[in-house]
Amino acid sequence: MGVKILVVEDEEKLARFIELELKHEGYEVEKAHDGRTALDMALAGDYTLILLDIMLPGLNGLEVLRRLQNEKPTPVILLTARDAVMDKVSGLDAGAVDYITKPFAIEELLARIRVVLKTHVKSVEKHTADINDYNGIEEAMDNLNIPINVPKGQGEIFMWKELVLDVPKHRVSYKGEEIELTNREFMMLKTLLENMDIVLSRDTLLEKVCGYDYIGETNVVDVYVRYLRTKIDENYGIKMIQTVRGVGYVIKSE
Ligand code: CA
Repeated sequence: MGVKILVVEDEEKLARFIELELKHEGYEVEKAHDGRTALDMALAGDYTLILLDIMLPGLNGLEVLRRLQNEKPTPVILLTARDAVMDKVSGLDAGAVDYITKPFAIEELLARIRVVLKTHVKSVEKHTADINDYNGIEEAMDNLNIPINVPKGQGEIFMWKELVLDVPKHRVSYKGEEIELTNREFMMLKTLLENMDIVLSRDTLLEKVCGYDYIGETNVVDVYVRYLRTKIDENYGIKMIQTVRGVGYVIKSE
């Protein structure tokens, strides 16, 4: 099956230009010029990837992204005219896998598309496969009426003290109380738990969480750690994520 890309951009000339370049690369392309049409198309269609402008008439790009991400995991690259860190953070928080600031060189956009196709499209497929595996085990256990005690790394359930992160169910709880996390916060916490007792650098975390190396933008990691600390550490009076000065972050098993 070929790669099908939805280009959402209200500047018609730019949209047309991107379309021609992408078609030249052999991708199948469809276009939308406003947020509402884009959301309808994205929900109904079967796109490999979506390029999504933030400033759009009707529904803005971030809103389109949020609503879409509630429904399906299509990777989204944001096109933004603004270069503010907060925009990028909101975009990544809402589930975008990457962003590119306008004006951009078409070669850069093409390179980023290739990275996303290589990393994210595969990981979405792999994640789905993991969920299927896990559901199979869970169902079998249910039938046997044996309590499930899944060891770390198997079935993708991670535990730290009374915190439980359940990957297949995409759920985090502390003492049984559910904690609501955004996709990126969830990925950050999962990465730290997966690597318990290993200090992870900001670069490593950024790569694991965003799937792309944002050179010079590692403060995005600090922002997510701050969000996690507010939602978990401060809320429950614990000290889960530790800062290792000059190196990065770690969750220690003891
Ligand atoms: Ca625009």
